[in-house]
Formats: sequence, structure tokens, C-alpha cells
Amino acid sequence: MYSYIVTQQRALNATCILLTLRPSKPNRTLSFAAGQYAAINLRVHGRPTTVRCFSIVNAPGQANVLQFALRITGDFTATATGLTPGEKVQVRGPYGNFLESVGSELNVVFFAGGIGITPFMSRLREAATRPQAGRIVLVYSCQHQNDIPFLEELLTLETRIPELMIVYAITGGPVERLAGHKVVRGRLTSENLDQIFGQYFSAYKYYLCGPKPFMRAIEKSLIARNVAGSAIETEAFGLQPLRLWPLQFGVLGKTYATSALMLALGTVVFLSTDLQNYSARLAAQTTIPTPAPAPTIIPTPTPTPGLTLTPTTPQATPVATPVATPVATPAPVVQSTPVPTIAPTPVSTPYNPPVSTVS
Ligand SMILES: Cc1cc2nc3c(=O)[nH]c(=O)nc-3n(C[C@H](O)[C@H](O)[C@H](O)COP(=O)(O)OP(=O)(O)OC[C@H]3O[C@@H](n4cnc5c(N)ncnc54)[C@H](O)[C@@H]3O)c2cc1C
Repeated sequence: MYSYIVTQQRALNATCILLTLRPSKPNRTLSFAAGQYAAINLRVHGRPTTVRCFSIVNAPGQANVLQFALRITGDFTATATGLTPGEKVQVRGPYGNFLESVGSELNVVFFAGGIGITPFMSRLREAATRPQAGRIVLVYSCQHQNDIPFLEELLTLETRIPELMIVYAITGGPVERLAGHKVVRGRLTSENLDQIFGQYFSAYKYYLCGPKPFMRAIEKSLIARNVAGSAIETEAFGLQPLRLWPLQFGVLGKTYATSALMLALGTVVFLSTDLQNYSARLAAQTTIPTPAPAPTIIPTPTPTPGLTLTPTTPQATPVATPVATPVATPAPVVQSTPVPTIAPTPVSTPYNPPVSTVS
């Protein structure tokens, strides 16, 4: 764990803040690669808060700086807006390997949605420090032009990095702040992607970070354009699966937990054995002997004196009522609805017109 101190906390836009930290001790700094993230916790009234993960936005190699961009969505991030210079922040990491392979790829595409720009910021800031091997395309989707964190810096980076091309996808509202830049209006669709990449889809490796529906839609479109699954990497900001055992129990905790488990198991085995013995004993005691059948006394009929026995009228043999054979109801004829043939989507001829540039 690393101890850092807040040097600055400022708004990036209406919903995001930029948190800049410096190490408490200059020789205890977290070293990281672009695209990695760290887990941080703050202190409220002297007590540590829960931990949340944030992608590091500054370029690697700046030993005295650690920067995070936070979108304010809940308790943790709201607490972070109250941070003032000099306050302590605990940092664990670095974690992840999201953009690890970028350096070994020739042409890469970064798809960012909203605050999903953060891991790419670190990589773009790094790219500004040296020539790149191939093209970098950033397709950045935001609801409104004012929602774009780092807008001014992105505009500058595009002029400083010759290999970089940025396409902004703005869902609604005006786009005058993006005048002279490549803009797609509305949500990103497969058609927009065709417009951007034309027949060159397979020439790139793709990295996606943003809301899950955004990533799913882009991934689907890419796969539909024959991009191999192995050429698509994603980073989700959702909660990671909890690894409760290794994270929350120390050696002592594990020993206690194992003993408790064994004790519970032993009790269950003991009780079930005891229950079995008891039921066997109970079964032996409760065998009731079958009583001998009581003799049936049949009275001898005494003839009534002076009475002539008249022959009995033969009993009429009951006529068996014929059982009506049920007439089988004919099974209804199920009319099968013909399944419509799903016509394959015609593959359109690839085209590559320029993405509209807002003037
Ligand atoms: C690898 C990784 C990198 C990330 N990078 C960034 C980043 O650069 N910038 C950024 O703003 N955010 C980032 N996040 C998300 C961040 O960790 C927090 O989850 C997010 O900011 C929510 O914190 P909060 O203050 O809004 O919510 P809290 O007040 O902490 O929680 C509010 C509620 O939301 C739930 N919750 C908290 N976090 C999540 C989550 N991630 N998904 C679903 N439910 C959640 C809680 O259980 C709680 O019920 C990243 C997450 C991951 C896993």
C-alpha cells in the first residue's frame, strides 16, 4: 500500500473531478503502465472509507504524480469532491493489463464511452512523448459536448500526435466546441463504424472502455464485420467478482474458519449417526405381535315348526348394463404456421466516405 497526499482536486466538468496526488514519501511511489488502475480509499473523520478502483490518467514515468478522473455517481465519489490539498489517500496497485498489448500492435482503435476515457488518457499522454509505430484512432462517445472530460487537452493532443485521429460521437445538443473536428451525431451505429473504417476493419486491434451496453453494441458490430474476438479487448468499470476468501481472511482468520467448518461437520456426522442408532432401537421395541384370529361362531339354523317351505322364486339374473364404448373424439388437426424464412442481411459493399467534419 502507498500513502499519497492530495495536491489538487478540481472539476473537469459538471459531473467529473480530477484528483492529483503526490507520494507522502518520495521513494515510495507506485509505478504503473498506461491502462492500469489503482484501488484508493479516503479518510472520513479519521476513519478509512471503502475502497474503489480508478484508472490512472497521467502518463507513466512521472514518479511524483498520480492522477485520477472520477465521475460523481455515489457516496465514495461524492466524498472525493470534498478532498482538499494536504489530505491523505491510501493507494493500492497497480492492477490490470488492459492496454498492455498496444505497444506491440501497429494500428489501434480506442472506443471510449463517457468516463471510460480514463485508461486511454494515460496512453495518449504517453504517446505525445514519442513517435508511434502505427495509427491510433480514438472514437469517443459522449451524451453532450460539455460531458467530454479533457476536451481541451484532447483537441491539443490530436495536433501534437501525428498518428492520432479522434472521432467524437455526440448523442445530443450542439457541437460548436468541436468545430473543425470529426463528429458523428447520435449514438454510434454499425453504419457509423463503416463510415469510419470502411474496408479496413481487420487492420486494427480494438480496445473498448465504457458503459456495458456501449461496449456490447460496439463488440457486436465489430464481430459482425468479421473482426476476430481476439482483436477486441475490453475494460469494464463494473464491480469485479468478489474474492472473499483470499481478500478478507488472514492466516488466523482462515484457521478459525476451518476449525468452525470442521466442528460443524463433526456435529452433523455425530448427530446423524446417533439418530440412525436411535431409530433402529425404536424400531426393535415397537414390534407388535399379530393377535390370533378370534374363532367365528356360526349359529345352526333352527327349523320353524308348522311352516311349509315354499320354493324360492329364482332370482332374476341381473342384466349387465352394456358399458358404452366411448367414441374417440378425433384429435384436432393442428394447423402449422409456416416459419418465415429469415433472409440473411445483405452485406453492403464497403465504402469509406469521410466522417463529417463540423465547421
Ligand atoms: C477497473 C476499474 C476502473 C475504474 N476506473 C474508474 C475511473 O477511472 N473513473 C471513475 O469515475 N470510475 C471508475 N471506476 C468505477 C469506480 O470504481 C466506482 O465503482 C464508481 O465510481 C462508483 O463509485 P460511487 O462513489 O459512485 O459509488 P458508491 O457510493 O461507492 O456506491 C454506490 C452504490 O453503487 C454500487 N457500486 C459501486 N461501485 C460500483 C460499480 N463499479 N459497479 C456497479 N455498482 C457499483 C455500490 O455497491 C453501492 O450500492 C472503475 C472501476 C473499475 C472496476
